[in-house]
Amino acid sequence: MNLSNFIKKNNWTNQRNTSSKKVEDLFSVSSIEKNGSKNHTDSDLHIWAFWDKQDDSQIISIVNDIFLNAFKFGASDIHIEPREKQVQVRFRVDGNFVKYKNLEIKYRDSLIARIKIMSYLRIDEHRLPQDWKINYKLFGWKTVDMRVSVIPIIYWEKVVIRILKKEEIAPELRELWILPYNMVKVQKHLKDPFGMILAVWPTWSWKSTTLFWLLSQFNAEDKNISTLEDPVEYRIPWVNHTQINPGIDFNFAKWLRSLLRQDPDIIMVWEIRDEETAKLAVEASITGHIVFSTLHTNSAVHTIQRLVNLWIDPLLISSSLRLIVSQRLARKLCVHCKKNYTPSEKIKNYIVWKVGRYIKDNSDLKLFKAHEWGCEKCNHTWYKWRIWLYEVLEMSDKLEELMLKKSSRTQLEIQAVWDGMVPIKEDALLKVVLGETSIEEVLAVLGT
Ligand SMILES: [Zn+2]
Repeated sequence: MNLSNFIKKNNWTNQRNTSSKKVEDLFSVSSIEKNGSKNHTDSDLHIWAFWDKQDDSQIISIVNDIFLNAFKFGASDIHIEPREKQVQVRFRVDGNFVKYKNLEIKYRDSLIARIKIMSYLRIDEHRLPQDWKINYKLFGWKTVDMRVSVIPIIYWEKVVIRILKKEEIAPELRELWILPYNMVKVQKHLKDPFGMILAVWPTWSWKSTTLFWLLSQFNAEDKNISTLEDPVEYRIPWVNHTQINPGIDFNFAKWLRSLLRQDPDIIMVWEIRDEETAKLAVEASITGHIVFSTLHTNSAVHTIQRLVNLWIDPLLISSSLRLIVSQRLARKLCVHCKKNYTPSEKIKNYIVWKVGRYIKDNSDLKLFKAHEWGCEKCNHTWYKWRIWLYEVLEMSDKLEELMLKKSSRTQLEIQAVWDGMVPIKEDALLKVVLGETSIEEVLAVLGT
């Protein structure tokens, strides 16, 4: 619903400046799924007061400008941050912040009010956090789902808008960058009759293209594949995607219990956040289901400890867990302006020491870096898109033994590498040698 309809619906008959109509047609909010429990009557008067004060077409243009440029930059999130004397607008692009612009402080209240109206939030609530969503119509045809979160800060309210790509299809293998030594392990365990496969990453890299690729590998004709997600990010035609509604009192564990009555073969539980969900997921995976899920942990080995810390019986974990795919995002060098160079002796020796055994000829090792000024294609940021860095851990008898003994992370790590796990840093360095990313980026993401 656009602003004009909103006003019409509320019987506001005042003559408004309609010069914004055209812009609205191009970028209007459409068919918002309205939450019945939200009551907007109280805020109507406030909306009116706001729009009376300021020229609404200007605010609408500002919001549309922010949204449109966020799409243009390929941003995953928009951060609108009031400061003492201005409003800062930043985009998160490929995991890093790009400063978009600073707006004059006079736009602060009406800008945030406009976003609240678009996402059906209470415009007169300034003390409590609020969140809901916007269905944004780009150029009048492409709908984009956005999640809006508003939190009070000392300089008014901070707004974060996450842009979800609707109906995005599962990614192709070549976009994932799983190198052959890891792919062999993944393919092997996709044939397991039951068990748990986890994709893990630290919180900031929120999107798991890998998990959806794994799901898309199953033949749906003879399988019941169901998911519980929040939010639904990719849609695979033969998969039963369920969107968990955070607004109602029905958590992942309750959903999972209900789903298990639907005779699923393969289940994807978006995130294991609590003990109850963890226990149910583990139980499901040892009673004939293949369960995929995600956890926020720093490494594959850390995941084992995390599961034990969720108070699940280590014996159950050892019968359930098959594979842990730990992943991190790194920015991909812009293909339009990257160039190769000969690294210093020190860096060369480091790379040869770490991954020399995988490289045929180390004598003339060349790496890639971005052009000093970048180029227009990458907005002079040197990088465009992202690649995943992986660490794939297969459970083994020895690892299970160590887990049952509650061994230290280092001991587990040594055993995992002994069993054939390629540590994530080695995977990353190989991707540097392949020219996909730079050594600087890898060190920034993984540390030295
Ligand atoms: Zn470039």
